[in-house]
Amino acid sequence: MSKIALLSQETIDKIAAGEVVERPSSVVKELVENAIDAGASAITVEIKEGGISLIRITDNGCGIPKEEVPLAFLRHSTSKIRSAEDLMCVHSLGFRGEALSSIAAVSRVEMITKPADALTGTRYVIEGSKEIADEEIGAPDGTTFLVRDLFYNTPARRKFLKTAQTEGTYISDMLEKLALSHPDISFKYINNNQTRLHTSGNGKKRDLIYHIYGREIAAALLEVNYKGEYFSLSGYIGKPVINRGNRNYENYFINGRYIKSSLLSRSIEEAYHNFLMQHQYPFTVLYFTFPEDTLDVNVHPTKMELRFGHNQEIYKELCDVLFGLLSHKELIPEVPVDE
Ligand code: ADP
Ligand code: MG
Repeated sequence: MSKIALLSQETIDKIAAGEVVERPSSVVKELVENAIDAGASAITVEIKEGGISLIRITDNGCGIPKEEVPLAFLRHSTSKIRSAEDLMCVHSLGFRGEALSSIAAVSRVEMITKPADALTGTRYVIEGSKEIADEEIGAPDGTTFLVRDLFYNTPARRKFLKTAQTEGTYISDMLEKLALSHPDISFKYINNNQTRLHTSGNGKKRDLIYHIYGREIAAALLEVNYKGEYFSLSGYIGKPVINRGNRNYENYFINGRYIKSSLLSRSIEEAYHNFLMQHQYPFTVLYFTFPEDTLDVNVHPTKMELRFGHNQEIYKELCDVLFGLLSHKELIPEVPVDE
């Protein structure tokens, strides 16, 4: 057996990056979440070749002051929390300070950023964790990230990417969820020079659902507005007639965060149980607000999962609210119900 030795920082960064950056859509998720945290009202995402050769993300958010730019790319550096106690009430989507360092470890990144109150901006280039340039430059307010050649230095990870078309579809799905999560932000998505999505940011949830899912779904929605003991809830659920063959249409957002939760999915499906046949799933776009101190968002590096304080109560409350809405008799589907 060989001697025990500490890994180099570069190797540590590459290994850690693997947890946050699985594929191009993870880069898009992290950078768009940063733009949302920066208070942007408009975010543009442009990709080439499924995001493998290029991802460009532009926001009109708060920008990064010149002297803080190199810090932003260090692992565990963040402006969003200061101590573990702050994890009890995270108001931002990010807080682990891992995204920029991870992305920079496995790609070539160029960032141009300028806070509104600065006279000039900063251009910062970092490739495989190595700083290439840090210079003053004229720039609009906000931040632009250019990420090129994802996984150029981690061939094992690159090998597991799917075709550019499939990776592009993952990005498109991710952006739909991010756009739905923030109806008050205008999102634009350009894939190989073609605009695929452009939301208005007018804050109207129904407009957004129409824009993303089309007329058939938008015409068959029930509005949800509820304030309960454990959470409050707004948004829309689909009438049973617009059932779908998979769970991709069960959208729910918690305190502005797009997550996956088997607890919420099970509860939603239970509410629909008598209204849908087996292997049919409902359409939902539900916005939950939980008191921050009842959630643990620090479960996984991608922050796609979280833990709730009162599982049983939440399950029952949600199921009852949705079942109540669905139980109007005009909604009972004509199709025979599975026993
Ligand atoms: P986290 O989001 O967990 O704080 P990141 O690595 O994603 O960690 O980002 C590090 C820091 O860089 C953030 O805390 C934020 O201060 C700054 N930052 C990143 N992206 C942007 C952006 N688009 N606009 C303004 N500041 C940003
Ligand atoms: Mg972040």
